[in-house]
Amino acid sequence: MAVYDVIVVGLGGMGSSAAYHLAARGQRVLGLERFGPAHDRGSSHGGSRIIRQSYFEDPAYVPLLLRAYELWEKLERDAGREIITLTGGVFVGRPESLTFSGSLRASREWDLPHEILDADELRRRFPTFGPRDDEVALFEAKAGFVRPEATVAAHLELAARHGADLRYGEPVLGWQALPDGGVRVATGEASYTAERIVICPGAWAPELLADLGVPFTVERQIMYWFQPETGVGPFQPERHPIYIHEDGAGTQIYGFPAIDGPHGGAKVAFFRRGGQVCTPETIDRQVHPEEIRDMREHSAELLPALPGRFLRAATCMYTNTPDQHFVIATHPEHPQATVACGFSGHGFKFVPVVGEILADLATSGSTAHPISLFDPRRDFAA
Ligand SMILES: Cc1cc2nc3c(=O)[nH]c(=O)nc-3n(C[C@H](O)[C@H](O)[C@H](O)COP(=O)(O)OP(=O)(O)OC[C@H]3O[C@@H](n4cnc5c(N)ncnc54)[C@H](O)[C@@H]3O)c2cc1C
Repeated sequence: MAVYDVIVVGLGGMGSSAAYHLAARGQRVLGLERFGPAHDRGSSHGGSRIIRQSYFEDPAYVPLLLRAYELWEKLERDAGREIITLTGGVFVGRPESLTFSGSLRASREWDLPHEILDADELRRRFPTFGPRDDEVALFEAKAGFVRPEATVAAHLELAARHGADLRYGEPVLGWQALPDGGVRVATGEASYTAERIVICPGAWAPELLADLGVPFTVERQIMYWFQPETGVGPFQPERHPIYIHEDGAGTQIYGFPAIDGPHGGAKVAFFRRGGQVCTPETIDRQVHPEEIRDMREHSAELLPALPGRFLRAATCMYTNTPDQHFVIATHPEHPQATVACGFSGHGFKFVPVVGEILADLATSGSTAHPISLFDPRRDFAA
């Protein structure tokens, strides 16, 4: 029977990165994934994810982002495929909106290069935008997007190149901490043992990590692609930034330039939490006409020409914690287990650095990265 140092459960965004970082450090890795490589049944699909550094959610994320950017570039080099594109990004809203004021706060606190544009400057610089006169924007040149499926595929390829044994279509049914400190993992096909386990189950966290006691909420989210009325010309990534817009009611939308050719349209979505609560088994994967209408109306507030012809939509899941901060830690009861979940709809830009942190925790029990915000034992009632 093969001997493993670490079993990684779930090979989506976080697990594929963990498998790569562990294997690259010489660990003997077994990766177990319910579906195939880079599939569309979890949270890491849909062609694009925003990356940015002026992090309005909390400036405490910025050092992780700085490291993530280094690792994104390394990943692209090592994998020899296109993964990260910096288009610049605008974060638009009233001056007091979280989207603008929080981005400004993080930029100032970490001395990140940025520009502040008033509504006129925003219209002049990026003519697809039609902000209200009382709105402002923070422009960050280092914002852009990454390709989620290519990211997962690249990490899996590199992990395999470093000797990881990756098995697909093999859901983990349960795991057990052994008295000697190791773990046993059961799938429908076999039972495996290893010294340690790294669990990255995405929207399956309520099932696989119920013992953490974190009140996760899995919710349905929708991505929409529209063919702009103008055609994709003005939406080309060479001249069009990624964007997040917050309206007067606090509703955020975000979107991308037209990155999929002349007929691929441009993707836009709501960033708000509070989508239909679901499980990976019960999620409604149909997108309904009233939902498309709602997106059309909201996106036209900032980008009047964007919602020309509706092309398609796809669903995805957020796994939210009550404070929307991640859970990344050594399992509080089992030192041989490391967990990463609850990414609350904003985890992808961190994928490479989360893999590094998980490899640190699994091999040495600690990490130099600042992760105290992600403790599963924090007070969620606060
Ligand atoms: C619509 C949408 C837009 C988003 N936009 C952004 C964005 O612009 N920027 C950003 O930073 N983040 C964004 N996010 C969030 C980001 O994509 C997620 O935080 C991230 O993908 C989560 O990765 P994960 O590894 O936790 O989950 P996943 O990638 O879903 O991986 C979990 C994996 O575990 C597997 N698994 C589960 N249970 C088992 C089991 N028992 N046995 C074996 N395998 C199992 C699953 O099959 C899956 O492959 C967005 C998310 C969505 C849904």
